[in-house]
Amino acid sequence: MGEVRLRFAPSPTGHLHVGGARTALFNWLYARKMNGKFILRIEDTDLQRSTKESEKAIIDSLKWCGIDWDEGPDVGGDFGPYRQSERVLKGIYDHYARALIERQMAYYTIYDKTDIKKPVLNTYEYPKEYIQQGHQITISFKVPKGTTKFYDLLKGDMEFQNSTIEDFVIIKSDGFPTYNYAVVIDDHLMKITHVFRGEDHLSNTPKQIMIYNALGWEVPEFMHIPLILGFDRTPLSKRHGATSVEYFRSVGILNKGLMNYLALLGWSVGEEEIFDIKERIKNFDPSSISNKGVVFDPEKLEWVNGKHMRAIDPEKLFGEFVDWSRFTGRKTPECSKEYALRVISICREKVNTLSALYDLSYPFFFDDYVYEQKFIDEYLKASYAKDVLERALDYFTRLQDWSVESTERVCRSLAQLEIASKNKVFQLLRGTVTGKLVTPGLFETLWVLGKQRVILRIEKALSYTRSWA
Ligand code: GLU
Repeated sequence: MGEVRLRFAPSPTGHLHVGGARTALFNWLYARKMNGKFILRIEDTDLQRSTKESEKAIIDSLKWCGIDWDEGPDVGGDFGPYRQSERVLKGIYDHYARALIERQMAYYTIYDKTDIKKPVLNTYEYPKEYIQQGHQITISFKVPKGTTKFYDLLKGDMEFQNSTIEDFVIIKSDGFPTYNYAVVIDDHLMKITHVFRGEDHLSNTPKQIMIYNALGWEVPEFMHIPLILGFDRTPLSKRHGATSVEYFRSVGILNKGLMNYLALLGWSVGEEEIFDIKERIKNFDPSSISNKGVVFDPEKLEWVNGKHMRAIDPEKLFGEFVDWSRFTGRKTPECSKEYALRVISICREKVNTLSALYDLSYPFFFDDYVYEQKFIDEYLKASYAKDVLERALDYFTRLQDWSVESTERVCRSLAQLEIASKNKVFQLLRGTVTGKLVTPGLFETLWVLGKQRVILRIEKALSYTRSWA
C-alpha cells in the first residue's frame, strides 16, 4: 500500500465543534498510526459565510487539541493550512470544470440578465458573448443515468439511484466552486486515501463519487461516522448548550481530557477509560468505531478531565493552569515554584476542571480573596467568632514548627476550649484563611499557606469581628 493520506477540511463558518474535533482526531490518529500524512484544508469557498476569525479560531483549537498537520504553504517556517479560496485563484477548479464540459459531463447555465434565478440556456459552448453582455453564468454537473455505489468502512455497501439526484452546480456565478465539487478536486490532487467524516455528509458522497468517475479518478476509502448526539438524541448543537472546543477550553477542560473523552465517544478503545491519546495511536482501528450515535455527556467529560488533572505531573498541571489563566484573561500567581506545586497538589484532589482549580486555589495565591456570604453570616458573625479568633491568633503566633501535624494540634486545642463546637471552630478557621467553607483539608491548608499568611488573615478577620462588636 502506498502512503496513507488523510485530511480535515473544516468550513470556517464558526468555532470548532466537538464533533469536528472528533472527526479531526480520528483522521489524525489513523494518519499517525499508519505513518502517513495528515492535512488541514480550509474550505472557504462560501464567501458569505466564511470568515478569517473563524479560521483562526478553528486553527487555534486544533493546535490546542494537539492535532498537527504535515503539509501546507510555508508560513514563517511552519505549515499553514491549504485554503480553497487561494486555490481558486490558481484556476485549479476551473481547469477541471472545463475538462468536464469538454466531456459533456458538465454544462454552462446562462441566466437572464435581470433575473439571476431564471436560466435561459444550458450549453457546452463557452458562452463568451453572454459573459460580455453581463449575464450570470454557472457550471453544473450532469448527473448520469444509473446507480452510484460505494463501500463505506462503517456502513458497508451503499447504493444510490442517480435518478434521485438532480444536476448540481459545481461553479457558482461568483466563479467559486461548490463544496461537493471542490472537495473531490482537492482530495484527488492532495492524494487523499481515506475520508473519515460525519454521517451528515453521507448524502453528498454519491455526488462526489460521480465526479470522481467522470474524471476517471480513483475513489478514496470513505467512512461516515455517526454524529455526536445531545441528551435528547438529536445531533449535538447549540440547543444543547455550548459545543465548541474553545468553550470547553475556556471552562478549564484540559486538552488531554477532551481528546480522551472524544476518543471514547464512538471508539471502543478497550477496557481502560483514561488514557493519553498519544499513547493509543497504535491501537486506533477505524473498524472498531461504533456505527451507533453516541450521546455527549458533559459530566462524564468533567470526570475524565478530573482523572487527568490528578494523573499528570503537578508541574505540568501548574503550567496548564498558568496558560489557562492567561487564555481566559485571569491574573496569574507570583510565587515560588515550590509553593505553587504544594497548592496545586492539595487543591487538585477536589476538582475536575482548571476553572474549579483556579477558584479553589485563589486564596492560596492571592490575598484579595473574598469571604463567601455563608461564611460571614454563619461563622464570622457568630457570637463565638471573636473569642476563637483571638485565641487562634495567640496560639498560631506562638507555634514554632509549622507543619500539618502542629497546625492540627493547634486547631484541636482551640476546639477543646469549648467556646464553640469543633465543627464551628474548624469552619471559622477555614473561612478565615480562605474565605471558603469547602477547601482542601484544614490542616494541610494552614500548613501550605504558612504562618505569616495565616496570622495576617486571622488579624483581618478579627478586625471585622471587632468592628461588628
Ligand atoms: N467542509 C466540509 C465540512 O466542514 C468538509 C466535509 C468533508 O470532510 O468532506 O463539513
